[in-house]
Amino acid sequence: MFRELQFPKHQSYLRDWSNLEDWTNLKKMNLNMDLGMGLSNLGGPKEYDVIIVGGGPGGASAAIYTARADLRTLVIDKGLTAGALGITAKISNYPGVPGPIAGADLVEIMRRQAESFGAEFLTDKVVGVDLSSHPKMVMAGTDTFHAKAIILATGSMGRTNTVKGEAELLGRGVSYCATCDGAFFRDKPVAVIGNNDEAIEEALFLTKFASRIHLLVPTPAFKARQVLTDEITHHPNVTIQMGVRLKEIVGEDQVEGVRIQPRGGEETVLPVNGAFVYLQGGQPITDYLMGQVETTEAGCLSVDAEMQTSVPGLYAIGDLLCSHIKQAVVAAADGVIAAVAVDKFIHGRNKIQTDWK
Ligand SMILES: Cc1cc2nc3c(=O)[nH]c(=O)nc-3n(C[C@H](O)[C@H](O)[C@H](O)COP(=O)(O)OP(=O)(O)OC[C@H]3O[C@@H](n4cnc5c(N)ncnc54)[C@H](O)[C@@H]3O)c2cc1C
Repeated sequence: MFRELQFPKHQSYLRDWSNLEDWTNLKKMNLNMDLGMGLSNLGGPKEYDVIIVGGGPGGASAAIYTARADLRTLVIDKGLTAGALGITAKISNYPGVPGPIAGADLVEIMRRQAESFGAEFLTDKVVGVDLSSHPKMVMAGTDTFHAKAIILATGSMGRTNTVKGEAELLGRGVSYCATCDGAFFRDKPVAVIGNNDEAIEEALFLTKFASRIHLLVPTPAFKARQVLTDEITHHPNVTIQMGVRLKEIVGEDQVEGVRIQPRGGEETVLPVNGAFVYLQGGQPITDYLMGQVETTEAGCLSVDAEMQTSVPGLYAIGDLLCSHIKQAVVAAADGVIAAVAVDKFIHGRNKIQTDWK
């Protein structure tokens, strides 16, 4: 059924943000069932009081408060080491946690605390939202969810630069979401470029489809959890190259290869049909909003004193906001303010209620 759809120019709709309506319909129709992931959305839409996009210190702290306020809470996060705190090797200035502690371990503690109050966590990438629908709709790689309120907590680790050929071949072999586009690469060789949890989880996902996965790691060592690096290292369909720079994505109308250069080595072109790019930078991550919310010139979101954006019921916290000191404790505090405001928004209260229990 999935393949009967006509994709005239793009292999994927997911990164052609102008097609929000088509993409929304596609998700509504559950056509991604062909991905063979045992999707469970046959039972109708999954409804939450609040969906938190991003599970770093901001998102996880918000979840502690919304879940404890008995709001049905879902946190969708694309990978523990895909965020700023998740990649931090040691942190010693988080109040109450003397440290040094690995940033990923600190985030894990916050997430377990939120889970203990009933918050649900899903490892997935949010690829779109529909803010005009009631309730609001959140589209992830594997499923679609609805919520009365949304808290955005995706941080500022977005890519700043693209390589030659990347923009031109976007949707024609270039992708940023294997869970969305992986099925298009059945029995074809692909490259995955990145070094964090997200890159490795996506590479592992692609092993269901691709004939060979070339994992091109830009650093001399992984920045992902060992359980993932162990799994990918031993997978027979995955070839790993460490310390490799992506120079260009080559091809006429479709991706035909990636030009790469190992540190101190010669450039070569690796023939592949797909290039899945998971490189990080310092840009606020807002692409999944598809222009539905205004950003500042620097690409940040603006909020009021309760962390609400210009869209009622849509909140933003942490490194997504330019005005802020970029620290874990500040993101966590933002999360608390947003969570209390969400409770007020959903229950129509005039005053913010604090929970002293
Ligand atoms: C190298 C480094 C060292 C630092 N050291 C310190 C320190 O010592 N002390 C300190 O207090 N602060 C430190 N910081 C800053 C601190 O890490 C950040 O201010 C803080 O993590 C911001 O929290 P956040 O929740 O806004 O974003 P993040 O921590 O970046 O979390 C964002 C989350 O969103 C998820 N995400 C992104 N896009 C999507 C999507 N489309 N779908 C689903 N999930 C998504 C990511 O997986 C990530 O988990 C450091 C930052 C860096 C980069």
